[in-house]
Amino acid sequence: MPIATVNPATGETLRTYEALGPEAVERCLADAEAAFRAYRTTGFAERAELLNRAAALLEEDQEDIARTMTTEMGKPLVAARAEAAKCAKAMRWYAANAESLLADEYPADSDVRDSGASKARAHYRPMGVILAVMPWNFPLWQVVRFAAPALMAGNVGLLKHASNVPQTALYLGELFHRAGYPRGCFQTLLIGSGDVETVLRDPRVAAATLTGSEPAGRAVASVAGDEVKKTVLELGGSDPYVVMPSADIPKAAKTAVTARVQNNGQSCIAAKRFIVHTDVYDEFAERFTAGMAGLAVGDPLLSSTDVGPLATEQGRGDVEALVDDALRKGATVLCGGRRPPEQPRGWFYEPTVLTDVGPAMRIDQEEAFGPVATLYRVASLDEAVDRANHTPFGLSSNVWTRDDTEIARFVRDLQAGGIFFNGMTASHPAFPFGGVKRSGYGRELSGHGIREFCNVTTVWHG
Ligand code: NAP
Repeated sequence: MPIATVNPATGETLRTYEALGPEAVERCLADAEAAFRAYRTTGFAERAELLNRAAALLEEDQEDIARTMTTEMGKPLVAARAEAAKCAKAMRWYAANAESLLADEYPADSDVRDSGASKARAHYRPMGVILAVMPWNFPLWQVVRFAAPALMAGNVGLLKHASNVPQTALYLGELFHRAGYPRGCFQTLLIGSGDVETVLRDPRVAAATLTGSEPAGRAVASVAGDEVKKTVLELGGSDPYVVMPSADIPKAAKTAVTARVQNNGQSCIAAKRFIVHTDVYDEFAERFTAGMAGLAVGDPLLSSTDVGPLATEQGRGDVEALVDDALRKGATVLCGGRRPPEQPRGWFYEPTVLTDVGPAMRIDQEEAFGPVATLYRVASLDEAVDRANHTPFGLSSNVWTRDDTEIARFVRDLQAGGIFFNGMTASHPAFPFGGVKRSGYGRELSGHGIREFCNVTTVWHG
């Protein structure tokens, strides 16, 4: 993929960039290594001051960077502004909390006495240069949720961002530089995915985190495994959204629309499979379909727009292929299922609801990375749990019920890294974020996220 900004609302190529050559990449690696040697010895107060400064700058830049994101990948401007604000908040949260999250842990004296220790503790130290391979869908947030904890832990970062968001990628490198981080602490590498392996194999790189598709995750994890380097993988999702009879159906249906079409339907934690108990299925289906059909699809710069274009032509093609496959095999379209005729330019796709989805259809098992929902009818709690787990993914999940017995059952049995009751999945700095099964491994955010790239060191005193 060329490194370029192509406006998905028009299809127009706005800027193209040359990938860094081997010498420039070498300079970045050398700078990163040198930066880590000094930065690792800084204290939490100094790191927090830098990160808070980056947060303040980001807040000042909110409008400009929001427009850049919308122009590069098509998310509604309102959502882009909110993303920038959320990033600043997460930076401040880690600046305030990293020290306590990484405080030494002391086992009870009675537990360590038989080791001969007079005292012992677990101590968190940074690992080094971390390579972050990131996707375009939340082009600021995905990076910040890696960078804020990594930098607070004393690591330094190398960002390989998605090739279609180069301006946002460059902005991030400059942001940390302007905030006063020493040279080499956080650098954007404008490289294609084919150059990731060389960087990852470099002995100066300690570990990697990747957010993106399963094939990309597999490629990076294979190389990292070969080099015995740690990885965190945040991959795809096909989150269930279960609605049981005790739910507040109007609220569940309204939230379902947002949960499906947030970010133009291109969110890993978007609800994608709507699993509804037969007692409330008809009411939910009617309300949900009306909500999806009533969304305003159009120019993402307009505040009246609910759903903008898909980020890439390929992405729209993938969504269309999934829907067409389902229709050929007998699925029913309740709304959408086509490109909006009033948007002849750009990569728009109508919010779509499919029902009568069967196991032969690709969409039954694959992730629909666009505004396309599948609706399933189930007759019991057991069937709801089985249907929810009937996917290779396990990122998050949503359940609407007011029944405590059902809640306990879902908490016990849903195969996912998150379970959100009577609401939709959202990431928050204080909650761990990540998945199981093909959605990846490791966690971001919270104390779990900041500890992923730490060397947890046993310090023992005789
Ligand atoms: P993608 O094609 O996998 O790209 C993600 C990043 O990986 C980009 O920087 C890409 O670079 C790079 N990449 C692709 N193939 C690679 C390879 N073989 N080796 C090394 N790097 C490689 O994913 P996408 O289409 O941008 O994003 C959509 C996917 O990301 C969806 O499946 C979505 O669910 C998932 N996602 C997951 C999370 C989460 O937190 N779990 C969050 C957001 C998105 P180029 O752009 O240069 O190809």
